[in-house]
Amino acid sequence: MNDFKESGLNEEILKAIGELGYASPTPIQAQTIPSLLDSRQDIIALAQTGTGKTAGFGLPIVQKVDVKSKNVQALILSPTRELCLQIANDLKDYSKYVKGIQILAVYGGASIEPQIKSLKKGVQVVVGTPGRTLDLIRRKALKLQTVQWLVLDEADEMLNMGFKEDLDSILSTLPGDKQTLLFSATMPKDVRKIAQNYMENPAEISVGKKNEGAKTVEHQCFTVKASDKYLALKRLADVHPDVYGIVFCRTRREAKEIADKLIQDGYNADALHGDLSQAQRDQVMRKFRTKHLQLLVATDVAARGIDVNDLTHVINYSLPEDPEVYVHRSGRTGRAGKTGVSIAIVHSREARKLRDIEKVVGKKFEHKQIPGGKEICEKRLYSLIDKVENVDVDEDQIHSFLPSIYKKLEWLEREELIKRFVSVEFNSYLEYYKTAKDINVSLDKREKADRSRKGGRDTNFSRLFINLGKKHKLKATNLIGIINDNITQQNVEIGKIEVLNNFSFFEVDKNYEQEVVNSLNDTMFNNYSIRVEVSKPKKEDDFSEKGRGFFRKDKKRNRFRRN
Ligand code: AMP
Repeated sequence: MNDFKESGLNEEILKAIGELGYASPTPIQAQTIPSLLDSRQDIIALAQTGTGKTAGFGLPIVQKVDVKSKNVQALILSPTRELCLQIANDLKDYSKYVKGIQILAVYGGASIEPQIKSLKKGVQVVVGTPGRTLDLIRRKALKLQTVQWLVLDEADEMLNMGFKEDLDSILSTLPGDKQTLLFSATMPKDVRKIAQNYMENPAEISVGKKNEGAKTVEHQCFTVKASDKYLALKRLADVHPDVYGIVFCRTRREAKEIADKLIQDGYNADALHGDLSQAQRDQVMRKFRTKHLQLLVATDVAARGIDVNDLTHVINYSLPEDPEVYVHRSGRTGRAGKTGVSIAIVHSREARKLRDIEKVVGKKFEHKQIPGGKEICEKRLYSLIDKVENVDVDEDQIHSFLPSIYKKLEWLEREELIKRFVSVEFNSYLEYYKTAKDINVSLDKREKADRSRKGGRDTNFSRLFINLGKKHKLKATNLIGIINDNITQQNVEIGKIEVLNNFSFFEVDKNYEQEVVNSLNDTMFNNYSIRVEVSKPKKEDDFSEKGRGFFRKDKKRNRFRRN
């Protein structure tokens, strides 16, 4: 199907998408549209934001909905309020000429009453976050017996955000004869499980390569000490004066902190994370889209749904735990025929993560050096000179000022004049970088750290025990979140994390051992009270649950207080 006209979509829909400028279907649309129009088979689609998946499910659904009925016929579940609104708005655009169709977004953080009122009036398509959707089902405001299409959008993200139980509750109430579509950028085990439990003989489709932009993205890696990561980010921003990119952080707190520092240091940056109000998020996104912002510092969740095609850089300030998430991040640059650079700022113990990512991406990182002061100053200087060469001079506007300016500068020779103009713009840079040290960690050291990790524990790390494991729904990412949320000290390096069934181990920079223990103890996770202790294993590298003497000696420690 190369043309929407051959797709089976009707005139009303074709007219609407023509107005939106959609000329031909994207690869995912070419697969999902005929399938939804002509068959009832369930579909699992490995697809990221930017592939056109919303129209992939949205166009056939708005066409097939029976507008004479006031019952809910399609339920679309999506992880965030922003995405729900975006999807609902897209569906409204697609159905601009479909008379009588009602599409409603339901999400938390907004009053539930108007949503209930709208549902009562009759809605055929509901786009909801799992929490609010479940709430509405329980209040009997949302009735789903008549649902014919269920779409799980960004399924991996819904599970990452802890919606598994809500999803289970919602999915188990839906009728059996509906058609289910599951969209996910990655396919971890939990997503597969949802598919196994709630889908019937699904067709699996994947949109070309997982990362469309793979060929046009260069992957660069810079190794520094954890405490120098921010310095490295600044230098990279300085050496790319025209950077337009997203800086990915692991947590909201990190995103906020890095954005605040960048703003304070005079960079054109802002943060996008879950703590912002909708109005604040909209404002940041508007600035970014219109390029009034150069650097958007964001968490993965907040960056979902950002639809910007011409980013020059994606900067991984912190690498994600899951290599697939890296693929997703880096796929945001090098789009639409342009080239892009995905940068990873790493510390010496992340060599294994880099290798895992290389396997998934199918490309090697280019190991590069953080530029020194001289290189940065040179680059900025030439960029300034280029601007001077290319600037548009508005003769009419400056005409009247020129005579007095010429007169004032008359005593200066050409060379002297140039020197002074450049210095006005440049002295602060030269001053800042005059004493800039080399912050690169040498390859030797990187490999040594790598070897030391392979051979046993790194002596710079302390291994800590925590009384939570898989049984308590703890994942490595949660653990990092718990640490980041509870310690005041920034840049505490976290090493190996081993999540076992009943409990887990993790490594932190030895210097912060006590601070981490003190700050985490008695905090809560999933209603469990946390206990952390320094672990002194008998065998150096024994991370296995069975071989550990800890519990055999002190079983009581494994009891939990459930609040
Ligand atoms: P999505 O992956 O659904 O978030 O869509 C990404 C972007 O592609 C959105 O801005 C859509 O409006 C746009 N889009 C979707 N389908 C097409 C198409 N067939 N032709 C051109 N643009 C499209």
